[in-house]
Amino acid sequence: MSVRVDHEVVIVGTGFSGVGMAVALRAAGVDDFVMLEKADEIGGTWRENRYPGCESDIPSHLYSFSFELNPYWSRTYAPADEIQDYLLFCVEKYDLRRHVSFDSTVQQATYDEASATWEITVASSWGTLRTVRTRALILGVGALHEPVVPEIPGLETFAGELMHTATWQPGTTVTAKRVAVIGTGSSGVQIVPPLVEDADAVTVFQRSAPWVLPRVNTEYSDKLIDTFEQHPAALQAHRTRIRATHELKAIEFTRRPGVRKAASRIAQEHLRAAVKTPELRARLTPDYTIGCRRPILSNDYYPALAQGHVTLETDPIYHVEPHAVVTSGGVAHRADVLVLATGFDPSGSYRYLGITGANGRVLADDWASGIESYLGVTVPNYPNMFVLLGPNTLVAHTSTLLMVEAQIGLVMKLLRERENRRASSVAVRPQVVPGFTAELARRTDKSVLRTPGCRGWYLDSDGTNRTLWPGSVAEYERRTAKPEMIDYEFN
Ligand code: NAP
Repeated sequence: MSVRVDHEVVIVGTGFSGVGMAVALRAAGVDDFVMLEKADEIGGTWRENRYPGCESDIPSHLYSFSFELNPYWSRTYAPADEIQDYLLFCVEKYDLRRHVSFDSTVQQATYDEASATWEITVASSWGTLRTVRTRALILGVGALHEPVVPEIPGLETFAGELMHTATWQPGTTVTAKRVAVIGTGSSGVQIVPPLVEDADAVTVFQRSAPWVLPRVNTEYSDKLIDTFEQHPAALQAHRTRIRATHELKAIEFTRRPGVRKAASRIAQEHLRAAVKTPELRARLTPDYTIGCRRPILSNDYYPALAQGHVTLETDPIYHVEPHAVVTSGGVAHRADVLVLATGFDPSGSYRYLGITGANGRVLADDWASGIESYLGVTVPNYPNMFVLLGPNTLVAHTSTLLMVEAQIGLVMKLLRERENRRASSVAVRPQVVPGFTAELARRTDKSVLRTPGCRGWYLDSDGTNRTLWPGSVAEYERRTAKPEMIDYEFN
């Protein structure tokens, strides 16, 4: 059946995934695509996460596109603003802004089997609705998009400023205020030191102590930046070196318990050097194997906690009152500002998109008991739909953008194959996914994620790993670079 198609491709989201996808489409000569962006500016993680201290924990020369190396990074780990500026630069350079439709929230996307197209209902903040029909729906909505708001009794009664790290309002000041921070993962460890610098008093509520390793965050000299600018080969070599070191470290780390022990000793020494009180040190010592959660690098977190106006509270939170957070021990910690550094729900990104695939399948139902896919990109019964940074494609040890670029390559290959075969749809065969899921489970069982006491957002409530890729990036690149077309059905 022939229907009017508005765009060959619709990309949802303008973060790194969406922008990378758009560049690949343009490079392949596809100009008929739209990028739907719910906000009024380009971006994803780095537009939304604007809390003090927010910066990349992967060196920026690697946390950037391989096709757009940037000689101008100011330091090893660039701050959030600089990363967002880089993304905006890419958008201008590749002339993508004209493809973006701002204030466009996807409410529903329904697959029409007769025409092999997706009909997408898009809402604006004014309440208007419109539909967009496309032959390919690409979800670049980010894996860590949906903030977790903890279910703490009385949280809604808090009378001061209440913010999740992902909803921090730039310009907020904590000078002369009392601040409470709940959560000590990557975001908590980054936000605490700048808050401690400005606030009158800070209480950090820690449920589990994180492993924190020292970090070398070198400022790049003008001379080195000039060298990178004038000698692209030197810039490329620098990136290649960073990539190789990260991959090698991870392989050693996951395969050799001795390497993990050595890393724990470095972290313990790092703690001992900054925190002189044995009692505080004991409470800051993790009770799980290093590597089972994302490694955290910080030189200023422990010194911040050791300051006189900072309290580390390890008793469970009992409830929140209008002006205080109260622990199960009955201690009320007064607060004017309450910061939730409580992380993200990795499956939450897809919950509100209202996706209905072939045979009336509803993605929210299919994924209710766990998100799963093939290579993180395609999902059976959802033809012509592609996910970027989907299930099991995050990496803890290196840049996720390497995974995103591999996925973009796979999407382009599948779209090209669909065209070559003169087919109107492509979908992964349903029988392929159980074997792939079993492989992920088998490999997870042999990993550090199965060491005693390992919990955290990499594992879902059943203890299943639905977030991390269990191998190297090089392996993922190999598997996506030459897809087995037999795994897919073209109709
Ligand atoms: P997270 O790692 O999930 O940490 C959440 C923290 O909140 C944990 O300490 C958790 O305690 C605590 N928490 C959650 N619910 C709680 C409750 N009800 N009561 C008390 N404590 C509670 O989240 P995140 O720090 O935002 O980091 C998430 C991911 O985002 C990272 O792993 C990383 O991939 C990414 N990230 C990256 C950067 C970067 O590149 N610079 C920065 C920030 C985040 P438990 O540990 O006991 O669960």
